[in-house]
Amino acid sequence: MSIDRWPIPGLGEDESLQSLVSRAECFFDCRPGYLWKTLREGEGDIGTPDAPTPQAVIRLAGRLDCSPSEVARHRLTEARDVLVAAGRVAYCPTCWKEDLDAKRPVAFRRQWAHVCAVLCSRHATPLIYWRMRQGAKGRKVTTGEVDIACEALASMTTQPGFNATMKHLAAFAEQLHACLYSEARTAASWRRNPKTLLRDIAAALTDQELRTGLWSTAIPLRWQGFVHVGRAPMSVAVDGPWQTLRQATDPGMRRAALWYGLSLARPDIVLGPEAA
Ligand SMILES: [Zn+2]
Repeated sequence: MSIDRWPIPGLGEDESLQSLVSRAECFFDCRPGYLWKTLREGEGDIGTPDAPTPQAVIRLAGRLDCSPSEVARHRLTEARDVLVAAGRVAYCPTCWKEDLDAKRPVAFRRQWAHVCAVLCSRHATPLIYWRMRQGAKGRKVTTGEVDIACEALASMTTQPGFNATMKHLAAFAEQLHACLYSEARTAASWRRNPKTLLRDIAAALTDQELRTGLWSTAIPLRWQGFVHVGRAPMSVAVDGPWQTLRQATDPGMRRAALWYGLSLARPDIVLGPEAA
């Protein structure tokens, strides 16, 4: 079969280009990365699926039979604000259920790739880490897997304090990002400055003693599918604490680190079962 045309459904709403390329790899049953490299057509750098060069945008549009501007709209241009490329696999089970019900391709949205995104902007549901995709060639998402995730989520959202805590963490993440990078003023109610908080948040992921400290034992056991510090400490990123956060690709781990940060910034905000 020729790979000069990719006869797959076009880009979904807010779908990332990496998601589209993965769908095409699945269609052609080829190994991850192979299809993207064919866009080189003998030339050098074509960027990455989420950040393609202008030439790659044109070639990709040709494969899909759509306009380059349509492809260009789906790029993830702010590298600093998004997770490392290999780990953009957070998803909203409610969005995926809607995809499956509407018989659309199940797609990763660009919004879910942002470092500060811990909730789906459409449903306000906590994003979940898609483990199945790791290393699984051409793996498709099934209704059964999405149903299990939706059920797990539904049982959590009835837990006292769960939804309120998730919203506090998401709001804190956005506010912290705005203070660090958009020249927003630090809230007067914060006990620490944003740069210090960022270092604290990264340390909650990398420092073994801190990871297992009192604050993390405050996370209810039953919640730990959604908020957890991971099995082992992450390595410290050489480019600073923000890069550590970019490498925390599991939204559950970012939520745990934000929990620690928020408890330092706003000790008056109650997190956990008593949250309101
Ligand atoms: Zn959603």
